[in-house]
Amino acid sequence: MTQPYDVIIIGGGVVGCMIARTLSAYQLRLLLIEKEADIGMGASSANSAIVHAGYDPVPGSLKAKMNVAANPMWDNLAGELNFPFDRRGDYVVAVTADELQGLELLLEQGRKNGVPGMHLISAEEMRHREPNINPNVTGALWAPTGGLCDTFAVTVAAAENAVQNGCQVLLETAFESFLMEGSQIIGVHTNRGDFRARWVVNAAGLNADFVMHQAGVRPEFKITPRRGEYCVLDQAEISIHNVLFPVPSCGSKGILVTATLHGNTIIGPNAELLDREDHATTRAGLEEVTQGALKLVPSINLRHVIATFAGLRARGNARCETPGVNYDSDFIIEIPKEVRGLVNLGGIDSPGLTAAPAIARRVVELMEDAGEKFIQKRDYEPIRPPRPRFRHLSRAEQTALIQNDPRYARVVCRCELVTEGEIIAEIHAPIPARTYDAIKRRTWTGTGRCLGSFDMPRVVDILAREMGVSPLEITKKGSGSEFLYRTTKEVEAHHGA
Ligand SMILES: Cc1cc2nc3c(=O)[nH]c(=O)nc-3n(C[C@H](O)[C@H](O)[C@H](O)COP(=O)(O)OP(=O)(O)OC[C@H]3O[C@@H](n4cnc5c(N)ncnc54)[C@H](O)[C@@H]3O)c2cc1C
Repeated sequence: MTQPYDVIIIGGGVVGCMIARTLSAYQLRLLLIEKEADIGMGASSANSAIVHAGYDPVPGSLKAKMNVAANPMWDNLAGELNFPFDRRGDYVVAVTADELQGLELLLEQGRKNGVPGMHLISAEEMRHREPNINPNVTGALWAPTGGLCDTFAVTVAAAENAVQNGCQVLLETAFESFLMEGSQIIGVHTNRGDFRARWVVNAAGLNADFVMHQAGVRPEFKITPRRGEYCVLDQAEISIHNVLFPVPSCGSKGILVTATLHGNTIIGPNAELLDREDHATTRAGLEEVTQGALKLVPSINLRHVIATFAGLRARGNARCETPGVNYDSDFIIEIPKEVRGLVNLGGIDSPGLTAAPAIARRVVELMEDAGEKFIQKRDYEPIRPPRPRFRHLSRAEQTALIQNDPRYARVVCRCELVTEGEIIAEIHAPIPARTYDAIKRRTWTGTGRCLGSFDMPRVVDILAREMGVSPLEITKKGSGSEFLYRTTKEVEAHHGA
């Protein structure tokens, strides 16, 4: 068993990584464990990437409090961690006379939650602001504090900054059970051995129920995944600048049409309750998404869909056997009484991305209330240095970069203009990219029209060379997803034998 840690965080999604980053400002030995081959492979890389203003959650709920507390933190966070963030505001759009009442209700709810600057705009003004909008629009709610981010870039930036400040990250390390002394948690048992710690934070997303049950906490709580499917539209064909929500129906924000910071428009998500984890997209789900999107922007042409994906919301169970307990509407953020040493999170579905920095602060407050004394590190470094993105540079900057390192002159992904220099930088970054998907999420390689058919062999080759392993060992997303079976010569030799 290794030296004890002060805090172990289970789960490397945006919430776990933001908690790691926040705790790394203090004199603590930190470990983050993630069961997958990369951080951010759960809900944190498959969502709408919207930093919500905060008019949607029920007033008084933890969701409302965390959302509204976190929203203003994002400008500073983006500045320190150097990830793209654009506070361009968002709209809820009514397309019938009846829906106008829904806008009034949201406006009132937003005001109760303390969301600044919201107001209603006329149909004419909405048509002016978004020329692609359904011409039958009847009015809209404008929330100027809404924003857009690159959701994976946020997760990786927070994790890297935590590592800069001394946090250890172990990938492919799955929590299995707690090490206990009486009711005191003293560490975790994983597939890679035991790790001791004074505190353990449960940030395991879809597996948060399994983790808390291992400590005997809330046995009645169960995650019921809610799948949301999306279509990505070709940016050369249609580009919507705005974030457009429909008037919400019960329990869901509805199917939106939104810009992304990469230039594509995405449509989705629907909301389907599942009894198991299933990330596949379905014909019925995509049909529902399409019909929903056409209500807001009738000119969307489905021939322009270049990709589809699905994310799973880690929603708690609506009804459970304990009378009066309903887990499907709010976050759990607590230090439970039954055990000592656990910070327990659960049901962190939307707006969990937006709320992540406030959830991280709340974790510190709860630990302080439980007697933990936090001492600020003298050498804490809040700035995570950016790495160059070739396509975003001016001609002069590109030339200077190439003169310094000619690998930036070799274009690997033609659709998204990603260079070999960028890919190599990610392989040697503080959280090294070790799989094709890890390179894709960080650099946007393979996300254009050709969907990776040109770049994939090159990326596999670069990964193998830089990691000093055989190309046969390179995977798409971790063990079991290898691209190559054996070398052609071996196949020939086999046939010839
Ligand atoms: C379709 C959809 C749309 C959304 N849109 C938005 C939006 O626009 N704005 C917004 O604010 N929020 C949105 N959300 C919500 C947001 O994405 C989530 O709340 C947020 O990503 C949750 O982060 P997390 O770190 O808790 O979970 P995750 O990202 O799922 O991370 C949990 C991590 O724990 C790891 N893990 C699980 N079990 C173990 C184990 N045993 N050992 C070690 N590691 C383990 C997982 O592999 C995973 O990486 C959306 C969600 C979905 C699904």
